[in-house]
Amino acid sequence: MSDPSPRIDAERVRRRIERLAQFTEADRPYTRRAFGTLHAEARAWLAEEFRSAGLAPAFDAGGNLVGRRAGTRGDGRALACGSHIDTVVGGGRFDGIAGVMAALEAAQALDEAGVRLGHDLLVFDFLSEEPSDYGASCIGSRALVGRLTPAMLAGTEPGGETLERAVRRAGGAPEALTGPLPDAARLAAFLELHIEQGPVLEREGVPIGVVEGIVAIGRMSVTLHGRAGHAGTTPMALRRDALVGASALVQDVWERARAAGPGFVATVGRLEVLPNGANVVPGEVRLVLEARSLDEGAVRAFLDESERRARGTARTLGLELEAEVLDTAPAVRSDPRLMAALEGACDARGLAHRRMSSGAGHDAMEVARVAPVAMLFVPCRDGLSHHPDEHADIADVAAGATVMLDALRTLDDELARGHR
Ligand SMILES: [Zn+2]
Repeated sequence: MSDPSPRIDAERVRRRIERLAQFTEADRPYTRRAFGTLHAEARAWLAEEFRSAGLAPAFDAGGNLVGRRAGTRGDGRALACGSHIDTVVGGGRFDGIAGVMAALEAAQALDEAGVRLGHDLLVFDFLSEEPSDYGASCIGSRALVGRLTPAMLAGTEPGGETLERAVRRAGGAPEALTGPLPDAARLAAFLELHIEQGPVLEREGVPIGVVEGIVAIGRMSVTLHGRAGHAGTTPMALRRDALVGASALVQDVWERARAAGPGFVATVGRLEVLPNGANVVPGEVRLVLEARSLDEGAVRAFLDESERRARGTARTLGLELEAEVLDTAPAVRSDPRLMAALEGACDARGLAHRRMSSGAGHDAMEVARVAPVAMLFVPCRDGLSHHPDEHADIADVAAGATVMLDALRTLDDELARGHR
């Protein structure tokens, strides 16, 4: 215990985030598209920063830039953290970037204090988390877990280059992407810090969000058939107005979703009225109803109940109703033990925290297929993201990095004890 405690250097985090922001297309900040020259230059810079933090940088077969530091136990088990540094067009300086910089800083704090974990430590800059021109997103994290399929690798961008070629250009080895990568099997835990990309933490003045998981998304298309007719000559009593049925459904969804409580949302975001004329009684309406919650069962039940109630309404209005459940994306849950480590770290540092779900996808949700994961959110101004004005306070990012560092040390002890 002669070592000084590892300490997060907020100023260094700020400097690095500012430096990385300079790798942008000059005329549309902040744009650093995966597979582009600026992205490659930024990663060359990042690899040197990894080195300065005591991490040995190398690309894996999926084109992820991975910084590694060996643990004392030598059993190959690893703790990992990280995120991505690619951006959307006209994106921000924090989405993904904050997570990589926090992970890097945590590793450097350990290195400078002379503290070695029992587990190996891996810091990931995942390749192309944002939707790419090749049709896929979360390319590097998919590759890590063995879900970057030949069909995805065969995808092309408008210029005709395949994703396979692009991954190779980015430092990967696509021929080796036949299953989960070697690192996947040895991950004992993965932590990802990310800006919230929503307004909740800022509004509540809470610096840390502990992410319980990513929500399930259920969608159902509904078509209401009535009878079109002249808006002037069709008596009200004889109308079968499909839009009246649809509007009842929209209102019903709104009320029931509001009553469902926090963490549940439902939306009718798409509505097509036929024939859509000012002087025609609507003969048909097609709409898509979407519901999201961490509770997949609640999503399914909500869609079922919406259909049941809409059928009742349709009957009284003389309408026919067709409903079809579209794709459902399952929920991904954070690991309770990792969440507890994050919350324990917050408590020990006197940092307020709250649990929340993520309405957006992240690399951690791919990694969850092979290892326990958890995420922590830090506030971002006005909930704004994917925008040049995206902003997070460095103090919040640094607080998040401290929580991640502390949680890594806790998990290093706890998970070592759990090994057979
Ligand atoms: Zn992101």
